[in-house]
Amino acid sequence: MINVGKKKVKAKQRPKTKAKGNQLARKLFNINAIEVLRKVGWGLDELSEKIIKSLEKQKSVSEDAIARRLKMRVNDVRKPLYALAEKGIATYEKKRDPKKKWWYLYFWSLNKERISGLVRETKLKELEKLRKQLDEERKYEFECRSCQKKYLHEEALEADYLCSECGSTLETARTTVTIKKLEIEIRRLESELELTPN
Ligand SMILES: [Zn+2]
Repeated sequence: MINVGKKKVKAKQRPKTKAKGNQLARKLFNINAIEVLRKVGWGLDELSEKIIKSLEKQKSVSEDAIARRLKMRVNDVRKPLYALAEKGIATYEKKRDPKKKWWYLYFWSLNKERISGLVRETKLKELEKLRKQLDEERKYEFECRSCQKKYLHEEALEADYLCSECGSTLETARTTVTIKKLEIEIRRLESELELTPN
């Protein structure tokens, strides 16, 4: 009897576990396409974003299903779909309609590889920018601790290591908060990029 009871409980829990599994799978594969595209600066209109949302839920969706979901005519969703295909964000597959032999059905999917590639590209660009900023910050090797003026190596040498503003002796520039922040951010991005499979 106990066994039967346990089985019942198990059977009831099964759908829950499945939903959790799906959620996990989604999380592992998850990239919020719209957020990524906004970040990359690819402004999409409201309709395109709605289409992306409907494509995100499934592997492949027929044109009819997309139109139905958005309460639109198939002809009206086609144009934005092709625009997404042109940008490489969506792809389609042609299949013969089993009911009408001479017709084709179009099944659309989100090109998640392309989108995660965009994430990588964006992060690489960001990393490059931060590295340049860091080089810029680090080029001042000396500073005047009284008036905070910073000096390049050659400038300090030319000035005999004396501040041109106040005459104080120049000292080795300290690592600034900005430098520390940049270094942390650079390290974070570098490890992220190594983790992201290309
Ligand atoms: Zn000074």
